[in-house]
Amino acid sequence: MKILVTGGAGFLGSHLCERLLEAGNEVTCLDNFFTGRKKNVAHLLGNPGFELIRHDVIDPFKIEVDQIYNLACPASPPHYQYNPIKTTKTSVMGAINCLGLAKRVKARVFQASTSEVYGDPEIHPQVESYWGHVNPIGLRSCYDEGKRCAETLFFDYHRENHVDIRVIRIFNTYGPRMLPNDGRVVSNFIVQALRGEDLTVYGEGKQTRSFCYVDDLIEGFIRFMAQTETVGPMNLGNPGEFTMMELAELVLKKVGGKSKITHKPLPADDPKQRRPDISLAKKHLGWEPKVPLEEGIERTIAHFRKELQP
Ligand code: NAD
Ligand code: UDP
Repeated sequence: MKILVTGGAGFLGSHLCERLLEAGNEVTCLDNFFTGRKKNVAHLLGNPGFELIRHDVIDPFKIEVDQIYNLACPASPPHYQYNPIKTTKTSVMGAINCLGLAKRVKARVFQASTSEVYGDPEIHPQVESYWGHVNPIGLRSCYDEGKRCAETLFFDYHRENHVDIRVIRIFNTYGPRMLPNDGRVVSNFIVQALRGEDLTVYGEGKQTRSFCYVDDLIEGFIRFMAQTETVGPMNLGNPGEFTMMELAELVLKKVGGKSKITHKPLPADDPKQRRPDISLAKKHLGWEPKVPLEEGIERTIAHFRKELQP
């Protein structure tokens, strides 16, 4: 198949491009390199089935493809809050442009949505039928509401124009190729520990997240895109739930060294708890994560050790 991956030079996108190429597809990676980098896909450039295009998804694009994966959007709070108006535009205009293209060329189109559509959830664990608890005017809203609007567009194009959509809600995913300055918690803690700096736990560190290793997530993407039982929305993530203090202690144990834990103010609207209910993914995809947190953290530490070498 001919497949377009927007945001393909980012963390998840680069792993996805790799997997799709390995399976014998032709892959076009479209990225504006805001949080992605050529380095993430440099090893794919020699592959005749791979093409890299610098383009911004807020501007329309034309290409003949069978499938589109729409991943373009900064995912880390400091990066999506850097230019919040641009973040909303990226989600909304990016969705419109992907859906318009999918409609024209009759491609199946995938949206990388997020657990952030549940906001600071009052239902735990989060099921797909929960409508969420999102502040529409806060610092996280550019991302949360942008992604919610993108879901709306996907389902309206599906109902009105019969576009063949797939919508996944991704829960915190980590692994090699996150940027050292990405700002998300797993890369922050590992990079801080490797540099011998103190680990910055925001607030008391009692808030929870559920961390999925990248390889597990990408397997879920591929299975979801291949099936025709459901268009989603479907949660994908690892149901193992940890406090940020537990994560910090695990990273300290695995890296060793002299770092300690220091506390910084909790950012506004930081969700207190998060854990996916993955019953739908188990039922329709036969999918569940295989890599436990300790093992995934070890693999990610090994990656950053190499990356941070002078
Ligand atoms: P990332 O920041 O590493 O990747 C995003 C990619 O999109 C980057 O390559 C960036 O340069 C590109 N991009 C951003 N704005 C663009 C624009 N206007 N035009 C073209 N390209 C643009 O983040 P990631 O973790 O790889 O996330 C990928 C997708 O998955 C995002 O849509 C994100 O919202 C979603 N997601 C990720 C997670 C996670 O835990 N990793 C969780 C939920 C949702
Ligand atoms: N966090 C932290 N220290 C950091 C970065 C993040 O304690 O250096 C916390 C953050 O407040 C949040 C959790 O870790 O409660 C996950 O943050 P991240 O930005 O990775 O993802 P998100 O909040 O979008 O789930």
